[in-house]
Amino acid sequence: MHPGQLLSKQRIKSGAPPDAAYAQQYPILTIAVKKTCLTILSLIALLLGAAAPLAAREVSEVQKMLENLRELEKARFAARQSLHDTPTSPAQRQFDVRFYRLNLNVRPDLQLLQGSVLIEGVSLASPLSHLEIDLFANMAIEAIRQQGNSLNFQRSGNRVDIQLSAPLQNGEGFSIEIFYRGQPQAAGLGAFNWSYFQGVPRVWTLSEPCGAPAWWPCKDDPADKADSVFLNVTAPENLVVASNGVLAGITSLPGNYHTYSWETRYPISTYLVFLAIADYAEFSDWYVSAAGDSMPLQYFVFPELLELAQEDFSVTGEMIAAFAAIFGEYPFIREKYGMASVPAGASMEHQTLTTLNIKFITGSHSGDYAVAHELAHQWFGDCITPRNWPHIWLNEGFATYSVGLWEEYRGGEAAYRQYMKEIDIGSFEGALFVEDTTNLRALFSVTVYQKGAWVLHMLRGVLGDSLFFAALNRYATTPGLAYGNAVTENFQQICETVSGQDLSWFFEQWIYRIGRPVYEYRWKTGAAGAGYETTLEISQENLQPQFNTLPYKMPLQIRLAGSGSDTLLTIWDSLPAQEFRFHTDFLPNLLEIDPQRWVLKKLRRIEEGEFTGIPLYFKLSQNFPNPFNGNTTILYGAPRPTTVQIEIFDLLGRKVYVHQTPRVFTGFHQFTWDGKDTSGNALPSGIYFYRFSDGHSSLTRKLLLIR
Ligand SMILES: [Zn+2]
Repeated sequence: MHPGQLLSKQRIKSGAPPDAAYAQQYPILTIAVKKTCLTILSLIALLLGAAAPLAAREVSEVQKMLENLRELEKARFAARQSLHDTPTSPAQRQFDVRFYRLNLNVRPDLQLLQGSVLIEGVSLASPLSHLEIDLFANMAIEAIRQQGNSLNFQRSGNRVDIQLSAPLQNGEGFSIEIFYRGQPQAAGLGAFNWSYFQGVPRVWTLSEPCGAPAWWPCKDDPADKADSVFLNVTAPENLVVASNGVLAGITSLPGNYHTYSWETRYPISTYLVFLAIADYAEFSDWYVSAAGDSMPLQYFVFPELLELAQEDFSVTGEMIAAFAAIFGEYPFIREKYGMASVPAGASMEHQTLTTLNIKFITGSHSGDYAVAHELAHQWFGDCITPRNWPHIWLNEGFATYSVGLWEEYRGGEAAYRQYMKEIDIGSFEGALFVEDTTNLRALFSVTVYQKGAWVLHMLRGVLGDSLFFAALNRYATTPGLAYGNAVTENFQQICETVSGQDLSWFFEQWIYRIGRPVYEYRWKTGAAGAGYETTLEISQENLQPQFNTLPYKMPLQIRLAGSGSDTLLTIWDSLPAQEFRFHTDFLPNLLEIDPQRWVLKKLRRIEEGEFTGIPLYFKLSQNFPNPFNGNTTILYGAPRPTTVQIEIFDLLGRKVYVHQTPRVFTGFHQFTWDGKDTSGNALPSGIYFYRFSDGHSSLTRKLLLIR
């Protein structure tokens, strides 16, 4: 749906598909849209040389090289598909858990946990004689029972192999109860946390990604959601227990204890099951849906923060309404939404009750972005959960992007664009798809969060607002994905169905490829016929040897302005180097690439006359001519007398040429290369990288040799 029709407080402005129609929506760019035509003259721009069309033979060489790179990337991409499996062992894939009931006695005075977990499920194999359950080795198992019978079990590391009393047939149900106790140890991002404030216990769990078995036995697989989970938690009676779902009751016990019974009847992954125990002050509010249904908002905050939290959390209902208008109704509306303060560590989107670090509770709404981020996770993470952790950007990228949507709701398009600009922190390591999920820093990196958000922003740019928001809504509400699990390909498929476009080019490069395009460009303009011709040369400098990647393919908006005229058009940049010519009936004195920031990129304008005079720092020019056949010339600038190490690498990162210059004076110097390796053998056609180092810094560029 289109969010502008549904958000009543402040209309979200219709966004911008990167096409010429876009110019009509923005007054600043429509002073006078004149007829503009565009020609792509040649595949390769001859940087620092005269532009000239390439011969057909040269064009086919370039295409051949790109094809080779594409094959290389496809092979890498195919290898990653195998990681779409769930993280469980083969034995764990033989049953499906339907229900957990946790009976836990929490003793903060002893930092001890004691209790039992009932697991009900269904066999997916015939015969199934063993169940494999996750529980950390330090937690002692006292007994495992099935219908009153004690079961034999063996422990191996953090797994428990349980022998059932009789083999199960496919589809047959089982019910076992594990009695255990121990002092849960820290794991992952904390798992089970004990803390004390002025002697009062403040206890909370944070199981993402793999910490649930640190404190309760389960099949710890995000793709095996239980249909419902009940928690009966016994704690000292001066403390409040907060958890998922609906509070079914509080039972007083002798000895100054009481038991809180929380029940959730929505599907839930093990890492989202949680409890928090503290001297909480409680307050509540209501969310009223567009359909008129009321749902309680329940808050649990440390008493010293009560007034601050009452102010900060006052926006939550409006926030839910804003997101519901875009993503579809709040997914757990029959239960609740709430937040519970925690004294340290990460904030976490526990299903129906987020835990929020106290640093976000200030009374000044400075933590609204964290509130929005965790709330958005109720759709993206909790209701629709990654099948496995390599796809965690489906949680974090979406939640980070949703904060931008909240900014847009509050402050309009300018606020949204400002937010997107701010979260482009410049350097994103690795790909969105996380291959090593044991590396928590990679799993929860700024790449996953902020590049992930940018990928959604770029998708919005590519699809335009109405298709983008329709796809987002369809993704969040599709049965099987909602209340279930997804991988990136599910999201891609929905975007393709909704838009009617093949988007594999977009997803493959932005999810599985590292880095971002770095565009180097220069432009010139002059009279041509009855009007003016502007030539724009763009080359992509993201082709580092160690990255070994294809150039990015993206639509780029180009703004041309001058003489009271202003126009915006879209080019598709997809090659190592490309030249575009624009014909206008006005003389442009301004050319801007991607003025509205739709593309995650770096831009570098090549200045004329850059390689003359005294260099202030080490400089390296693009070779010319490029591509070349016989010899090519490279200029370098030394800010001090030095020798320069010259190395040339092929596309696979192999060093094919090395040379050390004699000592040179301060100033610009010239190096000519004949396309031969260090031993004097002619090298084959291809893209090569040349690296020049002066002992203080080293610079790398690429060149194209065509035989
Ligand atoms: Zn998050």
